[in-house]
Amino acid sequence: MTNERLRKTIYTKLAAALALALMLAIVSVFDRGSMPITGMPGGTLAPGVVIDPGHGGYDGGAQWGDVLEKDINLEISLHLREILLAGGYRVAMTRYRDYSLVEQARTKKREDMIRRLAIIENKAPDLLIVVHCNSMASTRWSGGQIFSQHESEKGLELAKAIQDYFREFSATTRFASTLDHFLLRESNITGCLVEAGFISNAKDRELLQQSNYQRKIASAVWLGMEKYRHQQRQIEP
Ligand SMILES: [Zn+2]
Repeated sequence: MTNERLRKTIYTKLAAALALALMLAIVSVFDRGSMPITGMPGGTLAPGVVIDPGHGGYDGGAQWGDVLEKDINLEISLHLREILLAGGYRVAMTRYRDYSLVEQARTKKREDMIRRLAIIENKAPDLLIVVHCNSMASTRWSGGQIFSQHESEKGLELAKAIQDYFREFSATTRFASTLDHFLLRESNITGCLVEAGFISNAKDRELLQQSNYQRKIASAVWLGMEKYRHQQRQIEP
């Protein structure tokens, strides 16, 4: 290759690389999964949160007539996202609309959960909030309840803090509890599962579909997170 041709080849490759870098930069800005970096006053990096709205797409979750859990989970999660962004958090979600992360695979549910986990691990947030609604064969059970992963001390602190606000903001008399949850366990990130209420209970079902109640629930989650972070700062100055 002559020097002239070599130079041309290098320039072409350089131009292609620059174009690719520019494209990636643009894509990353508009990537719906990206966490906007919003620095907090004082220069400390804002805490990152991943919200996981349970179910989606083919997977409706709990159902009562035409009321689908997946829709309520997403609506509460979007309220929570808005509140957290306004509060200076960096927020990502595992889904932003009504879709499953897997529509084709045979082992859909497991694959869907693995993809959610991959999003969470990629974002490496400080906190993880999984949003679901409960459902029982009996219609008498009601009230929101917050769960943390077994043996996660910080998770339980967070769950208790959120549950306190749930008790204050809604009619629930439940207490925070623990369970084994795939995303909380495998991600190893401090977090909790928010069971916003019972779709199988008439009163809960009516409230869970109301935007102002969903916002109340989301506010309770946010305030619980704030309380938890305050408590942690006392322990780890
Ligand atoms: Zn669910």
